[in-house]
Amino acid sequence: MLTMGGPDPESAPPPTAAEEAAFEAARTRMVRDQIAARGVKDDRVLAAMARVPRHEFVPASQRSMAYEDGPLPIGHGQTISQPYIVAFMTAALDPQPTDRVLEIGTGSGYQAAVLSRLVAEVYSIEIVEPLARRAQADLKRLGFRNVKVRTGDGTLGWPGAAPFDAVIVTCAPERVPRALVDQLKMGGRMIVPVGPTRGVQELYLLRKHPEGMETQAVLPVRFVPMVTP
Ligand code: SAH
Repeated sequence: MLTMGGPDPESAPPPTAAEEAAFEAARTRMVRDQIAARGVKDDRVLAAMARVPRHEFVPASQRSMAYEDGPLPIGHGQTISQPYIVAFMTAALDPQPTDRVLEIGTGSGYQAAVLSRLVAEVYSIEIVEPLARRAQADLKRLGFRNVKVRTGDGTLGWPGAAPFDAVIVTCAPERVPRALVDQLKMGGRMIVPVGPTRGVQELYLLRKHPEGMETQAVLPVRFVPMVTP
């Protein structure tokens, strides 16, 4: 739906205290049963997943499903990733408190919010302008102050803020964009789903060395394609 200003028709009234308590309990179960039980062990990542309110990053119509084990639609044909995948990718990056991280594919802003609790600064690029604007507003409203969101083509990276300690790509290119490798610090990590537009991709963990990129396939995944304008 297209609206010209005014309140977002998809935005829900703020949850009541009882709803907040129920969401928190659901989030605790999500971390235990969907994430820790599947092998994500990093305590800092588990703590971040337990704190970030996923229900605030989904449309009102999806709120009751915010802590279930799957992706959810966020409008514009896009989705917020499955919680387990967010946790897995975050842990794979081995986020450090001093890190500056680049994310490609802001979507709802949820992954950026999780990262923002673990690193110094998050820079996130989204190609769909209304999504970028909404994520930026939600992150601000919820107090995630160390995230910068920008509308643009993520295949070009964010040269003005480079180099980065880590890069996380949450849409799937057919091959890793050169600019993202260039904008990674030596020793830096990148997690990226690579593969065909339709079908299954492989999540790769890359590490930049003077002699080249170390490449490790870590998980088969299904992401929306990285599009170019
Ligand atoms: N990280 C998101 C989920 C991402 S869905 C979250 O936590 O909710 C993938 C997103 O990548 C979509 O919003 C899509 O619009 C965006 N995208 C696709 N191609 C892109 C590109 N070239 N540059 C930036 N974003 C892109």
